[in-house]
Amino acid sequence: MATAPQLGAALWSPVAHMPTVPGDRLTIVAGEGAHIQTDDGRWLLDATAGLWHANIGHGRTRLADAAATQMRRLETYHSFGRITNDQALLLADRVAAYGAIEDAKVFWVSGGSDAIDTAAKLARRHWQLHGQANKRIIISRDGSYHGLHAFGTSLAGIPFNREGYGSESLVPETARVPANDADALEAQIHTLGPDRVAAVFAEPVIGTGGVILPAEGYLQRVEAICREHDVLFVLDEVITGFGRTGEMFATQLFDLRPDMITMAKGITSGYAPLGGLLIAPRVWRPFFDEPDAPIFRHGVTYSGHATACAVAQANLDVIEEEDLVGRVATLTPELATAVSPLADHPLVMEVRAGVGLLAGVQLNPDVSGDALTRLCLEDGILLRVITDNTVQISPPFIVDSDDLQRLAASIASALDKLAD
Ligand code: PLP
Repeated sequence: MATAPQLGAALWSPVAHMPTVPGDRLTIVAGEGAHIQTDDGRWLLDATAGLWHANIGHGRTRLADAAATQMRRLETYHSFGRITNDQALLLADRVAAYGAIEDAKVFWVSGGSDAIDTAAKLARRHWQLHGQANKRIIISRDGSYHGLHAFGTSLAGIPFNREGYGSESLVPETARVPANDADALEAQIHTLGPDRVAAVFAEPVIGTGGVILPAEGYLQRVEAICREHDVLFVLDEVITGFGRTGEMFATQLFDLRPDMITMAKGITSGYAPLGGLLIAPRVWRPFFDEPDAPIFRHGVTYSGHATACAVAQANLDVIEEEDLVGRVATLTPELATAVSPLADHPLVMEVRAGVGLLAGVQLNPDVSGDALTRLCLEDGILLRVITDNTVQISPPFIVDSDDLQRLAASIASALDKLAD
């Protein structure tokens, strides 16, 4: 008798080693608050909020109700040309009003990688319109992650993410600089020629690249260098947007004036896919002001998806009513205090924490991060290893002090076991 095929035998998972993954899957079937449940019934603390997205926590019926209500009324309608839907309008005004960029316009897409592609295209288009079509190079930073669409792949500062697609990666005319070195950025702009550089893209806190915090004054200097050389400054707030740093946007925490901000993840806390771009007047004006203004021929079927936008509004209601941004600010030093002692462990190279609910515990290169996360999993805590053998910690905003203590203790105990 033929045996039934394994569940999911057809699935090719993203960023996965497919010879081994099908026999080693961890399948999540439910979530409640800061916890998720596996298909064999175990409940785990979601210490990374999935891929940095589950900010308000899992299982919020209010968001499910918002989605159902909207779907019953209108699942979505596109927003190309003069057509749009009411939810796309409402959410644009609401997000612009947070003031991360003064007098901003909002462009909707489906996710973070989409937002990066949009920002990159718009940066090049901006300079074309200003008669400087040679300004096409986009500079990003070593260790940066800007998604895996064509532009994100080519901007990646994590080398293996950009390799294998051709000598210059997918999109030519990109360049990288060290992460926290403003002088190196300035030197690179001089080497390339300011008349060839369109924009600098930066995550306020590098996420997937290992939770790299910005050096004191670094981002402000990057902004000043961009201004001085007439280069657009684009902040990738796909992780940091909507509260992760203890301010609504990291732009506000670091007092920055970017020309564009990319956003996704926390705008819906993962209850629906949505991404977008906040755009400063300098960039949007030529497309809005004159009767012969050009058209930005960009967008996706689900730009401003009505159900995703309705869910985003319910998510923002929760964040505001429960003051979850304030909660992140309160928990920030608690997380740092909980994880900092791990730096003394002989298997740990460095601990990075202190900006929002974000921390990275970088293990020595010879320590198996996989073995460590499997030990923590046995302890009921789901973690992830990212670049440079760094354990990612980015829990939902609704965790409490006990959760933070528990996860630090679990890592400490796993380290002790590995050291034995
Ligand atoms: N930018 C940053 C900083 C990210 O962390 C990510 C995803 O992790 C992206 C862009 C891409 O977002 P998405 O995976 O929604 O396309």
